[in-house]
Amino acid sequence: MHASLGERELAAVAEVFASEWPAGQGPRGKALERELAEHFEVGEAVALSSCAAALHLALLALGVEPGDEVIVADYTFPAPAHAVRYVGAVPVFADARADTGTVDPRAVADLVGPRTVGVIAVDTVGLPADYTELNAIAERHGLFLIEDAACAVGATYRGRPAGALAPVACLSFHGRKGITSGEGGALLTGDRALAADVRLRSSFGLGSIVDQARVVGLPIPVFHETGYNYKLSDIAAAILQVQLSRIEELLDRRRAVAARYSELLKDEELLTLPHVPLDRTHAWQSYLVMLAPGVDRAGVAADLRAGGIGCGHGTWASHLQPAYETALTCPVSADLFARGLAIPMHAELTEQQVERVADGLRTALRAHARPS
Ligand SMILES: *Cc1c(COP(=O)(O)O)cnc(C)c1O
Repeated sequence: MHASLGERELAAVAEVFASEWPAGQGPRGKALERELAEHFEVGEAVALSSCAAALHLALLALGVEPGDEVIVADYTFPAPAHAVRYVGAVPVFADARADTGTVDPRAVADLVGPRTVGVIAVDTVGLPADYTELNAIAERHGLFLIEDAACAVGATYRGRPAGALAPVACLSFHGRKGITSGEGGALLTGDRALAADVRLRSSFGLGSIVDQARVVGLPIPVFHETGYNYKLSDIAAAILQVQLSRIEELLDRRRAVAARYSELLKDEELLTLPHVPLDRTHAWQSYLVMLAPGVDRAGVAADLRAGGIGCGHGTWASHLQPAYETALTCPVSADLFARGLAIPMHAELTEQQVERVADGLRTALRAHARPS
């Protein structure tokens, strides 16, 4: 993990230490929420402890009930399906587009049934899904649509920022994402009532304690709901205020790495490079290539790791996880899950490191391609 956290973030944390409020929903958290809303041009942002928390509270605020079905993107870190389970609802897995890995709108449309209440789309490893089609499907059937933009801060779709592509969006600020506070998340929405509901549920069902301290007399808060504690600390918020101002700088470096990989590997027939349709841009949370069907991926990965080059399988076919035993199949997602290889991608990579990865990968591919 190579988070780009430096002196400016440290200075911001030092300021919080010197202030009176390190916990959540204080001055830093509120300022961050305003800045997020402004940056993404949405009405409301709620700072939360993780993207998983944002997904959970979104489903509660949208009124999802036990037994409801929510269609979720299959080819992803399975947080959306987990969140659906948190509220006792049933995740129904929608297959991926083979070229982008994002959820296939036709698969979503086919899965809508009498118990379907909504859809969670995912901007797969930083590439936005097809929101024109997805929003149309949601509207046609009266479903909610949530954008899981955990990996996609900085990406765009038809000129609009990821995080503002559906009526509700969830972001992650985990250490492996484009901007980070170690752990953290946010919910973005144009719906004020929904944002207020989520904010309350994130704080045990109580309003901001900082606000209450300003009330004269002895206010005794009342619990109307069993809320959660999903607040983002003001320490993390201070870090994120700095990170938010660095989005373009950090993204430029990831873009340069992606461009160089694509130059160095474009003629390699043993792999397929990431495809970015012309109507959207990638946030490059990962650089995920697909190995040709005859290549032994475990062998390639072992060689790369032995050479000091970190790599992984990319992301998951959620429906194949033991937690989600299901009769449904998602063949495209299963195939991507079997052939994906994520090679090093972060804002601190040097030109020489990128070249070494590309060289190492080519050599490993030759060594592990089964003769056809
Ligand atoms: C990382 C990730 C999450 C989880 O984010 P947390 O902030 O760690 O909860 C959710 N969805 C997707 C698509 C992710 O990649």
